[in-house]
Amino acid sequence: MLLTTLLRLFQRLRFEQLFHVDWLVNPTGATYRFTDHFKGFEKVEAVKQIFGEKTIEVLQNLKVKFTYIGGYMWIDARDGSLVVSTHYLNEGDKTGIYLDLVHELVHIRQFMEGKKLFPAEYDYVDRPTEIEAYQHAVHEARRLGLNDQQICEYLKTEWMSNEDLRKLAKSVDVKCT
Ligand SMILES: [Zn+2]
Repeated sequence: MLLTTLLRLFQRLRFEQLFHVDWLVNPTGATYRFTDHFKGFEKVEAVKQIFGEKTIEVLQNLKVKFTYIGGYMWIDARDGSLVVSTHYLNEGDKTGIYLDLVHELVHIRQFMEGKKLFPAEYDYVDRPTEIEAYQHAVHEARRLGLNDQQICEYLKTEWMSNEDLRKLAKSVDVKCT
């Protein structure tokens, strides 16, 4: 029962950190350079659009932590680092991982601008910070040639209700049938 509850909580960690359990999230405490693990992002137009002239500098300074607890990836709002699930990285859909990285990089810029990434007054799909990040990822998905149905599949997560998915899809102008 407790395990199921915990698993469910961890599954919610796709784009956000709901709580801070460092020893569990990152037992070794090790941080890595984003550019050592994710190559060539400084050349991606969608990423250059996020950071402009600061693209190379921001990516070089960005730290990554890897976690075994599952979920997908999210920003540690205390230090602005990216946390990535190793399981997701190894087993996840490569296009989805790429789009998630684009999404998270939008959050990195928001973090640098001092925006509150997880405002409690909004539901997840209503947060302006999320909508902006999803819009950017959807734009990149379209550029890659994904159709609305495929993008809709990408937006769908196991913890999102149909109503939330509908709302999010509408906010980012994707037709989910
Ligand atoms: Zn997000």
